[in-house]
Amino acid sequence: MARIGVFVCHCGENIAATVDCEKVAKACAQLPGVAYSIDYKYMCSDPGQNLIREAIKEKNLTGVVVAACSPRMHEPTFRRACAEAGLNPYLCEMANIREHCSWVHPKSEETTLKAIDIVKTIIAKVRKNQPLYPIKVPVTKTALVIGGGIAGIQAALDIANAGHRVILVEKEPSIGGHMAQLSETFPTLDCSQCILTPRMVEVAQHPSITLYTYAEVESLTGFIGNFVARIRKKAKSIDEKLCTGCGECVNACPIKKIPSEFNMGLGTRPAIYIPFPQAVPNKPVIDRSRCTYFRTGKCRFCESKCPTKAIRFDQNDEVINVQVGAVVVATGFTVLESTFFPEYGYGQYKDVVTGLQFERILSASGPTLGEVRRPSDGAIPKKVVFITCAGSRDPAKGIEYCSKICCMYTAKHAMLYKHKVHDGQAYVFYMDIRATGKGYDEFVRRAIEEDHVKYIRGRVSRVYERNGKIVVCGADTLLGAEPVEIEADMVVLATAGVANPGAEELAQALHISYDRHRFFTEAHPKLRPVETNTAGIFLAGACQSPKDIPESVGQASATASKVVALFSRDELTREPIVAVVNRCAPPLYSTCVGCFMCQTACPYSAIEREELRTRDGTLVKTVARVNPGLCQGCGTCVAFCRSKSIDLQGYSNEQMYAEVVELFAE
Ligand code: SF4
Ligand code: SF4
Ligand code: SF4
Ligand code: SF4
Repeated sequence: MARIGVFVCHCGENIAATVDCEKVAKACAQLPGVAYSIDYKYMCSDPGQNLIREAIKEKNLTGVVVAACSPRMHEPTFRRACAEAGLNPYLCEMANIREHCSWVHPKSEETTLKAIDIVKTIIAKVRKNQPLYPIKVPVTKTALVIGGGIAGIQAALDIANAGHRVILVEKEPSIGGHMAQLSETFPTLDCSQCILTPRMVEVAQHPSITLYTYAEVESLTGFIGNFVARIRKKAKSIDEKLCTGCGECVNACPIKKIPSEFNMGLGTRPAIYIPFPQAVPNKPVIDRSRCTYFRTGKCRFCESKCPTKAIRFDQNDEVINVQVGAVVVATGFTVLESTFFPEYGYGQYKDVVTGLQFERILSASGPTLGEVRRPSDGAIPKKVVFITCAGSRDPAKGIEYCSKICCMYTAKHAMLYKHKVHDGQAYVFYMDIRATGKGYDEFVRRAIEEDHVKYIRGRVSRVYERNGKIVVCGADTLLGAEPVEIEADMVVLATAGVANPGAEELAQALHISYDRHRFFTEAHPKLRPVETNTAGIFLAGACQSPKDIPESVGQASATASKVVALFSRDELTREPIVAVVNRCAPPLYSTCVGCFMCQTACPYSAIEREELRTRDGTLVKTVARVNPGLCQGCGTCVAFCRSKSIDLQGYSNEQMYAEVVELFAE
């Protein structure tokens, strides 16, 4: 016979102002199985918890119901108190009479009656509760970091410096990401590569980091502490152990006119190439889609020039499986396609470029060696118009969010342009200036006041070519929407930051969620900003939403600290609220018919197939089995199982029915 204790909390006036707590306690004392019922001012206080501990011992309680606030607040508090008194913590439940009752109703008899009903249903559930025990899973103390931009680099270094192994996977031939493409960084105007490259080298030389470039994660199975990642190392067509990075092959390649991805199409590269001078690793790859040998079977000039015989035309992709305990997703972002804004003439006029292209023009390692020159004829532009929010904050085109970094990098672009072309004039069309970081507003002011950049508040309606000039038409809304027309030599678009192509596929491979803009979603925007909904998988950088460098680095370090905290334990303890497929005696019996509807429904891929065999190996049947390490206790599978063979521990069908029956009992 159950002996349940009911503890009704006043929560100061939060509950007691509208609910008669004493009456609730007295009503509950009359219910079957209730051995003790009391109300108290603050149940979560030390004396309140003591009340529970003492009652468990003195009244020999077999279950506890605390009628108070949301279980999200204090369920762990009360379960801990029960455990301290020797009661299995999963025999303790909370009835929420605050958020679900006192806060949403006025003081009245009905409010108290509703509170009694809520407590009654939970008492009915506790009568059916079974002791549960936390699930223990071992932890593989190796982290997988996907993406070798600044966020991935920072996370990898922080985790490795804490003494753990890291596998860093980057899909491009070099790590560095977009930061390697930048000229200088706002608001300090540090040379981007100067501050980045030491970190890149540190990654390559770190004894605890294994770096796979030109590689992609194809799938991830397993669960927190115990993932298996399948990584495809694409054939670089080079034996990296033999290659010294001398570059002879690059010079020998006759295919020289391939648009350089690193220079955003403003320069060219050969078919065998090292993406940029400071690349890590500083060894070439052959772009097989452009290489003459791979296309026609003839050439091999690079091979003939290689002093170490490192070229491998017969190299194949290699697929490896690695075991990791945590995953950091740091795959970054990209900028909008040119086709998105035909009204700005991008893709039509050579001298209309994106912000990232302008970074390459400004960069000393760029196609113009840092001199500001027009892509069309190499002339120095004397009038440059910068257009912010090119694509961003445009609900009509589907990108209604602010890309966050454009206001700042546009101010930087205009400032750097003025530093290089002293007699030039920079104009910035803007909607609002969003400069909210440390030193950011001062930086924009500096561009306006010291470098005399002309800021015009208004949208640009059209960009077209006239007599070799690019005409920018807009309106100055601060002057009563007065039309403005500027004959520019060059136009720079602060294009919206968008999710990487392939973000959706990666999210599906990793079983993490993403928003409608295909940015990966955090578990909670305020309280769990670097975790995903899948335990053990974390986010860093602009794959979550557009971010600047300080924010990406800060988030990467936060993510690393989560991983290090995870790795500080040898075993993980997980809540036992997981699904189970029934198994009855004799051991091979299960009502599961093997339809695997549950497997189709499970959003966490937690359901596996299990063959039930007799001792002599004869197959009896194939049934579903829940992997408790992966199961998140969502209960979806329970709803899908037509034979009612699957149940959720702690929220079984029997417990749910008991609650409903109690609620409607006369
Ligand atoms: Fe260039 Fe390919 Fe010829 Fe080598 S074989 S030199 S990579 S085109
Ligand atoms: Fe490497 Fe040979 Fe090319 Fe030199 S020539 S970079 S050693 S592959
Ligand atoms: Fe089908 Fe249910 Fe078995 Fe899953 S547990 S395979 S849904 S019978
Ligand atoms: Fe999958 Fe949810 Fe069922 Fe667990 S409870 S096996 S996560 S559907």
